[in-house]
Amino acid sequence: MSLESGTGNFHLCSARSYALAMHDFDFDLLVLGAGSGGVAASRRAAALGARVGLIEAGRVGGTCVLRGCVPKKLLVYGSHFRDDLEDAAGFGWSIPSASLDWSKLVAAKDREVNRLNGVYLKMLADSGVHLFFGWGRLIDAHTVEIRGEGGSQRLTARYLLIATGSSPIRPAIPGADLGITSDEALSLPGLPRRAVIVGGGYIGVEFAGIFSRAGVEVSQVLRCDNILRGFDEELRAAYASEQRARGIALHPNQTILAVEPTTDGGAQVLQVRLADGTHLLTDLVLFATGRRPNTTDLGLAEAGVALRGAPDRPSAIIVTPESRTSVENIYAIGDCTDRLNLTPVAIAEGRAVAATLFGGQPTAIDHHNVATAVFGAPPLASVGLSEEQARARYGEVDVYVSRFRPMKHTLSGRDTRTLIKLIAERGSGRVLGCHMLGTDAPEIIQALAVAIRCGATKAQFDATIALHPTAAEEFVLLREPRKPTPAHS
Ligand code: FAD
Ligand code: NDP
Repeated sequence: MSLESGTGNFHLCSARSYALAMHDFDFDLLVLGAGSGGVAASRRAAALGARVGLIEAGRVGGTCVLRGCVPKKLLVYGSHFRDDLEDAAGFGWSIPSASLDWSKLVAAKDREVNRLNGVYLKMLADSGVHLFFGWGRLIDAHTVEIRGEGGSQRLTARYLLIATGSSPIRPAIPGADLGITSDEALSLPGLPRRAVIVGGGYIGVEFAGIFSRAGVEVSQVLRCDNILRGFDEELRAAYASEQRARGIALHPNQTILAVEPTTDGGAQVLQVRLADGTHLLTDLVLFATGRRPNTTDLGLAEAGVALRGAPDRPSAIIVTPESRTSVENIYAIGDCTDRLNLTPVAIAEGRAVAATLFGGQPTAIDHHNVATAVFGAPPLASVGLSEEQARARYGEVDVYVSRFRPMKHTLSGRDTRTLIKLIAERGSGRVLGCHMLGTDAPEIIQALAVAIRCGATKAQFDATIALHPTAAEEFVLLREPRKPTPAHS
């Protein structure tokens, strides 16, 4: 990678930036990492008149655009056609044969990712952000060294912002290097016949959906009792049933001991050894076992930036609600702070830092009631508290549940149920959480997040006239709370 600069123009945009320029710094703000958070913070700060330098070690766009949300969602769309084609038969369509050319899907996905990378570069240039390619490392609280193929250079700034993201973790077991992570899974040249996915979080469930719809035999190894720990228990249980119904073999309460090369009918394959003495033969192992904040080799300790975790294994950067680190002029946002590792959160945190430093508006991000979705098969989405969290915090709550066969599948014949759930505070009726497992759940829950943010009550949901016929209307047609079971009374 070459060390280059000047992709953006150098502007002194306002009286405020002129005032800041009176200090002896090259920039008002230097940002490490041109991912979701870093790009958002840079553009907003530049719009507020700050002189901004942005340093990127790889390509502009970060995890979301290059190795996360965007390519993942394109593969979700691509694999979903299997369901659509199967469902079409019940509506009279006859589709003699259909097959997926995975390499064509990956190539189309790559073209879109490259297009977005270009859009990001143009946006940064247009906003006057000065872009540098290379590895950024703090020398002190105001100085960053950028190392690239062309050499190194040092830049100074009044404020520094760390937005270096996170990287996938592989478990420390023999043969871990024989498996892949989501980085590689998004660009597989071809599809395996069988895949073992280790981990039942967002990435594990999303790839189980992509692979199974693409025709891969999927086994998912979980170290706890079920997928998606932390989500509403009823949705987790319903999700596991849906997974099993589509042929995904779940292996709960299992510890993976090793991955070993072996042969199967003369072919080179992998053997996944489990702690209960059994093993799984597979063509591919995907480790979806969490991510680690990118906080090493950044010179953070030298600059005095405090990290969570043991001294020999530091992890996330500790920040205040305004994203300030233990050093007055150094801020950190996004996955490297390990608060809520989602793209819109990193963007909101980045813009908040710009408003705090250059907009005269100290801004903290409220991490409550952030909607989130798992784009599996089917998708799940949630906003607010799960039933378990609501009971722990508020004691008595009213829980409304509806589980139904979606209208589309009365004709398609697909054996699937949509689950929707609403949790309200008893007495005030304030809606504390909305959850959905089923088609369009992410689209529906995003809209309901506005209602929850506004403090809507169950009575206001009831007073909303339904939009018929939709799945979303069920959220305003929930009449009777579920009778408390002994466990809940
Ligand atoms: P990143 O976007 O990772 O950006 C960090 C940047 O810093 C990178 O470009 C990196 O190269 C650069 N960098 C690191 N160190 C240095 C250095 N020393 N010098 C210079 N540059 C450096 N979130 C959602 O909201 N919805 C989704 O559907 C979703 N799907 C996902 C799917 C997958 C497979 C993955 C892995 C993640 C997904 N996420 C999703 C999470 C989301 O991608 C991240 O939360 C988000 O990208 C974090 O943004 P960030 O700015 O903190 O870091
Ligand atoms: P998650 O934290 O969501 O899930 C990790 C999974 O791996 C859990 O099931 C965990 O088990 C399991 N696990 C962890 N360590 C081991 C181990 N040593 N052996 C076996 N299993 C293990 O991480 P992901 O990697 O799935 O995703 C990372 C983050 O990226 C997410 O948390 C989310 O913030 C973001 N993301 C968001 C997406 C979205 O918005 N749609 C999509 C993809 C990622 P246990 O439950 O027991 O801890």
